[in-house]
Amino acid sequence: MKQMRSLLAALPDDDLTFLGSSPYVYHCHHFNLFHDQTVDDALGNEQAFAVKSRAAHEASWHLLADLVKSADAVTPAERLEIAAAALPWMGHGRLALLTEKHGGTARGEYLHYGFSWQEKYGSRVRRRHPADAFAAGWAAAATEVAYDLPPGSLRCREHACFACREAACTFEVEGGGDANLDTYVGKETFERFISPATVGQNEDTVRKIAAGLKDFVAGIESDERGLVQGFGVYVTRHLANYYDQTAYDTIHMIEREKPRVTEVIEELFGESGHVCVFYTCGGILASPEWEALVGPPENDPESIVVSCTAIARGLGFGHWSIAEMVPGERLVLQASSNYEAPFYRERYGKSEKPRCYFFANAARAFMQLAHKVDWQERPQLDDALYQSLFKSNLGWDLEMTRCQTRGDEVNEVVVTRRKA
Ligand SMILES: [Zn+2]
Repeated sequence: MKQMRSLLAALPDDDLTFLGSSPYVYHCHHFNLFHDQTVDDALGNEQAFAVKSRAAHEASWHLLADLVKSADAVTPAERLEIAAAALPWMGHGRLALLTEKHGGTARGEYLHYGFSWQEKYGSRVRRRHPADAFAAGWAAAATEVAYDLPPGSLRCREHACFACREAACTFEVEGGGDANLDTYVGKETFERFISPATVGQNEDTVRKIAAGLKDFVAGIESDERGLVQGFGVYVTRHLANYYDQTAYDTIHMIEREKPRVTEVIEELFGESGHVCVFYTCGGILASPEWEALVGPPENDPESIVVSCTAIARGLGFGHWSIAEMVPGERLVLQASSNYEAPFYRERYGKSEKPRCYFFANAARAFMQLAHKVDWQERPQLDDALYQSLFKSNLGWDLEMTRCQTRGDEVNEVVVTRRKA
């Protein structure tokens, strides 16, 4: 979609990407489903849907406003058309918006969450609550932007969902919204909170691979369903603010209301880093595209960690760099920029404790992939392998030693081999 492409922006040295002023990253359906499930587990389905759709609404509103402005779209019909075309470009499926000034309905097909949930779990689990909170928030924001309504005045509920074995997803947009569009975490926020790019070990190799991967993923197009399939996963170009707001709002609610389970929920959001690295980094490493770009992965821990660090940069996760790597023993990974800390600082202020859960746990997963996977054997990256690597056999401890959410210069995690 030309309009989306014209809005692409980056802070290339910091490995961050933006649509207009909205930060975006590439994440796969395994990560997305796990992340949303964690919000559900923490808050219960109903409250979770409200938190997720509100975060989606806030993140989407700014992107849609940028899009409409850059296209000089004046009429509601033009604006709704732009919103309808943007969602498939992001790999989120198709959503027909049948809304007017005071609300209306929307109908989704192949929506990323519901569709991929059904494909991953549908034959084993019966789902009874809708999965497409992101699309719901998008629908509310798109209607507000289309009709110049006060930002945050609408809300949207999903009544039927493909994940619950309905034919399509149906939504109702109505008044009574509570999204807050007062503060916004955009490109300019990132520029305030990130640090100059660090130079890590194997910097030239990491930089070169990341550049090749950035070019590759930027060229990926969605299919006729509005989905993006690649590296054995469904990929989204997703708004980073959605992940941050859902994770941090959830953790803060738990800290206030059920402080005793805070650590469990923090660990679950951290585990999403394992899920991402296993399926996305692993899928990329095992792909023919990677072989063409870099060569086949070898059973060499250092080269796997170098590759994973480059992949993180290539997907827009920020400027991750290797400060120290001792195969079999230890990894010190730093990030002078990432997509977690700027959001936290802008929305919630300075944290008392480190909070880059995704970054820290991804580093641990790098070490597990580097030491426990036989890459020359061409492993099947399926749930069975995930369970064996990350549920019963995770031999690495981690410590978040520095964190920009706390005001430190960089984010830093130290991963060490767990003593028997
Ligand atoms: Zn749905």
